[in-house]
Amino acid sequence: MDSIKTLKDVNVKGKRVLLRVDFNVPICERRGVVTDNTRIQASLPTVKYLVDHFAKVIVMSHLGRPEGKVKENLRLCKVAKEFSKLSGYKVKKLNYLIGRDVKDEISKMKNGDILVLENTRFYKEEELNDPKFVKKLASLGDIFVSDAFGVVHRKHASTAGIADYLPSYAGLLLEKEIRSLNPLLRDPKRPLTLIVGGSKIATKIGVLQNFMDKTDYFLIGGGLANTFLYAAGYNVGRSLCEIDKKEVAQEIMLEAEKKKKHFILPNDVIVSSEISDNAETLCVPVQSVEGDMKILDIGLMTITRFLDIIKKSKTIVWNGPMGLCELKPFSNGTKQIAKAVAESDATTILGGGDTLEVIRKFGLSFDNFTHVSTGGGAMLEFLAGEKLPGIEVLKKK
Ligand code: ADP
Ligand code: MG
Repeated sequence: MDSIKTLKDVNVKGKRVLLRVDFNVPICERRGVVTDNTRIQASLPTVKYLVDHFAKVIVMSHLGRPEGKVKENLRLCKVAKEFSKLSGYKVKKLNYLIGRDVKDEISKMKNGDILVLENTRFYKEEELNDPKFVKKLASLGDIFVSDAFGVVHRKHASTAGIADYLPSYAGLLLEKEIRSLNPLLRDPKRPLTLIVGGSKIATKIGVLQNFMDKTDYFLIGGGLANTFLYAAGYNVGRSLCEIDKKEVAQEIMLEAEKKKKHFILPNDVIVSSEISDNAETLCVPVQSVEGDMKILDIGLMTITRFLDIIKKSKTIVWNGPMGLCELKPFSNGTKQIAKAVAESDATTILGGGDTLEVIRKFGLSFDNFTHVSTGGGAMLEFLAGEKLPGIEVLKKK
């Protein structure tokens, strides 16, 4: 941790601290509550540190994908409530991120006060890292603290841009993530198995290339597998699949073959024509998918194959569910993989919002894993050795 600036490098007393966290938590629309507060919990040590050291804590986070517009259901009200409940601190939530009212409220803050600003992604300038917007945001604080490991791979205003204008430091969570993941980057025990699934295909597919030399076994599931199956020439029916990623997928499979890596796609899958809690499902070989079938989980033979490889691995990195695991008919693959990784004696690292939720849902404990990361895509990119914009800006010059 010699290379990046941390809270040890700054006296925060009396300072207005713009703290970027990743409070992008799942919320139950019907009950209006946060259903998994892992990510909030993960940043509490940083918040407590700042409060104990008499800072004025101004919290920024995104929630969901409002795409630059105000979406009532994506306001941070419920998140702020849960944050207050968990931390025991009084928390004031504002309806804006920038502007006069926000400035006024901040000027009234006393040392140790906590303010939560509105969803950063309600502003289209956030993801564009728009310089004017960045300046306005930076003008709210004296220093910037980044604790949002889940989004350090994004070059957004509140994750990276803001550091151009303010002295910037890593929070305790970010520091812990880097410390835990760093050794793995250097010298992982082999065989190393990378298990990737989920639906954020565009983010994850490119990363695989950078894993090529480190990895012995790639186990591919979830929506990501559908894209590879499609690229390999299979009919994937009406499955979630990114057609425009066909060429990238083909390149990756070719490179894996050249380098004699085991790049393993499902050879059987769970299909259904409807997505519901009581959907009828079939387990079929991948060659048999057709018509309006949707691939929604890995099949039984595939599970057995994946489990065999998990058993002989010395390092396992996992991000992304193997299927549409929120619904029972499609959750078995993810459940079996989660159990096997939890039982493994290997160094096990997993991450991602949905992946963490899965662990809780299946009643497994985080203690069963070597490191549980709050980042999914960010964790993969970090482990692949990529330079992450949100970490680069914290480097000592
Ligand atoms: P993480 O948050 O762990 O990084 P992602 O956000 O990439 O994972 O993906 C999680 C989502 O992927 C879940 O909502 C899950 O339902 C979905 N998913 C996984 N496999 C499939 C599939 N075959 N078809 C549709 N959705 C899928
Ligand atoms: Mg997710």
